Amino acid sequence: MLSLGIEGTAHTLGIGIIDDKGNILSDVKSSFFPPKGIHPREAAEHHAEVAPKLLKDAIKEAKINPEDLDIISFSQGPGLPPCLRITATFARALSLKLKKPLVGVNHCISHIDIAKLLTSAKDPIILYVSGGNSQVIGFSCNKYRVFGETLDIAIGNAIDKFARECDLGFPGGPIIEKLAKKGRYIELPYTVKGMDFSYSGLVTDVTRRHNSGAKLEDLCFSFQEHAFAMLIEATERALAHTEKQEVLITGGVAANNRFKEMLSDMCKERSAKYFACPMKYAGDNGIMIAWSGILNYKNKKTLKTEESKILPKWRVDD
Ligand code: AMP
Ligand code: MG
Repeated sequence: MLSLGIEGTAHTLGIGIIDDKGNILSDVKSSFFPPKGIHPREAAEHHAEVAPKLLKDAIKEAKINPEDLDIISFSQGPGLPPCLRITATFARALSLKLKKPLVGVNHCISHIDIAKLLTSAKDPIILYVSGGNSQVIGFSCNKYRVFGETLDIAIGNAIDKFARECDLGFPGGPIIEKLAKKGRYIELPYTVKGMDFSYSGLVTDVTRRHNSGAKLEDLCFSFQEHAFAMLIEATERALAHTEKQEVLITGGVAANNRFKEMLSDMCKERSAKYFACPMKYAGDNGIMIAWSGILNYKNKKTLKTEESKILPKWRVDD
């Protein structure tokens, strides 16, 4: 069985084709990274512009005919509404033209599904850290539950904001990680409330310190130490509470080596197994949507066109 997946919740339009054994046949994408941050409508225009060519490329790379596809899967939410609308329209058109079932996928769950496929994690506490999301998630009593999450902006967004305030460019993560290697520790706001955490105060504080002449390397190092420790504290408590034995990290911020080191140290101390989604599939991509599409299809979750409206605020625990 072959699934074509279309991801388009934010800055990336990705199209991937996978079979039901988990073999990846093709994976193509185009990302929209304007220097001043994403405007949702401009990102949607980018997606509309590149979609037809990406589709051709994905079919060609997979060495199949469009008729060989069995289902059309798409990211139905959560995400930026203008981007979701383009993605959904493209998916509906394709499903109608090819007369293949349409399958809606929750973007956040598909990050988890693909990470589980590509690692040997069975029942982990998941740390999902990306530009738009920061959540500590676990499967419990037959559904995914959010044990902790950001109360304001996502960690990736916080990193990019900090980088933008300091004119470091976009995306900020890799640049801040590099500068942090030469920094020393200074105390910054550390905000954990119950199981949740918050980043906007931290960004405001490092920006203010930057403007009054603090050393950038020190700010980068200390920002990382504080921001990551907050997430790891909540993850550790979720592990203790659920008595799970595995931790899985995914999302674009999972590229950070210091973060992975801190997380794997915590896992060692608790004798928990540590897994990281391979970076190639940790960011947004079409393959993850295609794979979740197969799982949803096998659970009889297909959509009629009129049921396929976008779900911009669809939560992982819905
Ligand atoms: P995603 O939304 O999953 O595509 O992830 C994008 C986010 O990951 C952006 O906010 C980047 O700044 C962040 N990111 C990428 N590389 C790194 C890194 N090495 N360290 C921290 N954050 C990173
Ligand atoms: Mg994502």
